[in-house]
Amino acid sequence: MPQWLTDGAAHVWRPYCQMKTAPAPLAVARTDGARIILEDGRELVDGIASWWTACHGYNHPHIRAAVTAQLERAPHVMFGGLAHEPAYRLASRLAALLPGELDHVFFAESGSVAVEISMKMALQYWINRGVAGRTKFVSFLGGYHGDTLATMTICDPEEGMHGLFAGVMPAQHVVAMPRDLGSEAALDSLLSAKGSEIAALIVEPRVQGAGGMVLHDDSVLATLRRLADKHGLLLIFDEIFTGFGRTGDLFACTGSGVIPDIVTLSKALTGGTLPLSAAIASRRVFEAFWSDDAGAALMHGPTYMANPLACAAANASLDLFEDGAWKADVARINAALAEGLEPCRKAPGVVDVRTLGAIGVVEFEDAVDTGDLCVKFAERGCWIRPMGKVVYLTPPFVTSDAELSRLTGAICEVVAGS
Ligand SMILES: *Cc1c(COP(=O)(O)O)cnc(C)c1O
Repeated sequence: MPQWLTDGAAHVWRPYCQMKTAPAPLAVARTDGARIILEDGRELVDGIASWWTACHGYNHPHIRAAVTAQLERAPHVMFGGLAHEPAYRLASRLAALLPGELDHVFFAESGSVAVEISMKMALQYWINRGVAGRTKFVSFLGGYHGDTLATMTICDPEEGMHGLFAGVMPAQHVVAMPRDLGSEAALDSLLSAKGSEIAALIVEPRVQGAGGMVLHDDSVLATLRRLADKHGLLLIFDEIFTGFGRTGDLFACTGSGVIPDIVTLSKALTGGTLPLSAAIASRRVFEAFWSDDAGAALMHGPTYMANPLACAAANASLDLFEDGAWKADVARINAALAEGLEPCRKAPGVVDVRTLGAIGVVEFEDAVDTGDLCVKFAERGCWIRPMGKVVYLTPPFVTSDAELSRLTGAICEVVAGS
């Protein structure tokens, strides 16, 4: 163990971690492409792209050059009253890439904060429109939208990591995803009964990520749009996980043809290099804030919002998306994951194997032992960190065929109990 790890271990409080019993974290020396190189010299293929961020792989020279150049020009300036090219260019580019009139970009530094901002936008949209009492949100079982206090209330109350805090914050309507006529009718009648108290519906389109990599059809999104319109509600897509190619389309809202009123982005926005997020509103939402009344403004402004280094990284990441090569890579990864994980179907305790885009999932009947499995995967040259009942892969798009087969092979081997 390197000295810095031994010394710092008494002081660093790790994420989602029982500090007393969890295995020691792996000490990272550096990263390269799809690989994490440890201090002890081992090289792990990163099967989850560092929590779904490093879509172009690590240390991409184009992103590095953009960030280095920006670091010399201006690493950070406040965004209140000042403007800089990286953020203004990024906002224009995101607006051009997103469908419909999703044209108004509010920057923040983390996914949870972007979701909080989207909630605040929805609440104030109604206040500014002179409609009182629309203070609640509808979200979906199995969903995950962040770890901050307000976002916890729209996460799945059981699956989520927030069960302890029940009662701390006002309860929201967390309901079944309308996958069939029964659940659709239930949502419709909830909205009929309570619609006047509800500001917006919020959903992770196509895949509920942290709640267990649960997929749904685009027809579900069309249903949500139809019900939101029928009851006059806003619809928010949380694309923090699904954005930037992961499901096979650049965004779920471009691929599905269903356009929300607000979309949140983060995770792969900077290609996994720097923290940045955005809540992007449609013209209709933005217009409710456009007024001669100073009190109608959106009163929000994180200190590090639109950090120039992060925006430069995001612009460079978008350059890499522009050549379109990612599409073929996502299709290639999908085929490799589907084929490579197929043998797991017969393994003990496995209830499902599924893929979508560059996402491959092996689901178990019961929760797995994350710490123990991480160790076993690392022994096989892989960084894979299961959550809840799922062992999953969301590799960088640059992962080679040989690296993909190392990842799927490790899962098959470990799952078979060998
Ligand atoms: C990760 C995630 C968040 C929270 O983002 P943080 O940057 O961890 O705060 C919110 N929504 C979804 C769908 C996510 O996957």
